[in-house]
Amino acid sequence: MREVPIEPTFESWQRAARGLLRDDVGPADVAWREVPVGSLPAPAEPAAADGGIRVPRSFVDLARGVAIHRDPARWSLIYEVLWRLTREGRELMGQGDPSVERLVRMEAEVRENRAVITAGPFVPPGASVDGLRTAAARCAGCDLSRHATQTVFGRGQADARVVMVGEQPGDQEDLKGPPFVGPAGEVLDRALAEVGLARERLYVTNAVKHFKFTPRGKRRIHATPGPADIAACRPWIEAELELLHPEVLVCLGATAARALIGPAFRLMQQRGIFLETRWAARTMATFHPSAVLRGEDDAAQARLYGMLRDDLRLVADTIGRETQ
Ligand code: SF4
Repeated sequence: MREVPIEPTFESWQRAARGLLRDDVGPADVAWREVPVGSLPAPAEPAAADGGIRVPRSFVDLARGVAIHRDPARWSLIYEVLWRLTREGRELMGQGDPSVERLVRMEAEVRENRAVITAGPFVPPGASVDGLRTAAARCAGCDLSRHATQTVFGRGQADARVVMVGEQPGDQEDLKGPPFVGPAGEVLDRALAEVGLARERLYVTNAVKHFKFTPRGKRRIHATPGPADIAACRPWIEAELELLHPEVLVCLGATAARALIGPAFRLMQQRGIFLETRWAARTMATFHPSAVLRGEDDAAQARLYGMLRDDLRLVADTIGRETQ
């Protein structure tokens, strides 16, 4: 029996599987052992997209999805199917084979972000905020990483007194990298400038670090993250807030508020009020800047913007009072 340590990622499994196939080691002779992310030596060369092995694209896509499933048996199952593909041929994928069918079911669970490994194994213990950001770039804790361009991690001062948490990156953030750099970011910047809060002195992040969207033609339409998405990504925001320890925490929108204040939080009734949470003695929720943009007409947008700005003024006043 050969014990094979791998990080819980498709790429790590792929590298190991390639070596096992080369050495002609059958699935029954392999014991897969997961080790923490970052604990294996860096590979000498990047793995080829198909691992250098001729297998159907449908298998590679399926295996990539199943790699995110939390079932520890997934590694041996995808290796068994890979092994048989190299011997029985690519027809195996379309024959209703029980192992392939099981992989298909697991991949479907991953697509709904049920039964995923979550960000937990990717969060390095004892890391700084910069260390978290670097590690998050490799996160494959849920299905969103398979479709988005990149991880959009928090940016700002590690000693910021005010931390703002939004929902998830949008289209522009996904393409550019930092949070709040698209149209919603422009609304936020305008409101911050009006109340005298300097963006460069804040720390701004999101509850979910990858862009969730529905493709429509060439466009990518924002999809609201659900409880499963937020739960999968939660280890990152928890690690950030534990390090940042802000004096004031501002939740931008209902998604962030429910994630950090509680599921019963009601934005329309409770926005603009300071509450004590485990993250900050003063935690407040207000509108997400994108809600301003979604206002049905100019008057509605102006009203929503006014409420966002007034809530942020409370934050600026609080911070200002405490420096006097
Ligand atoms: S959304 Fe969060 S948990 Fe999911 S892959 Fe991205 S960083 Fe990881």
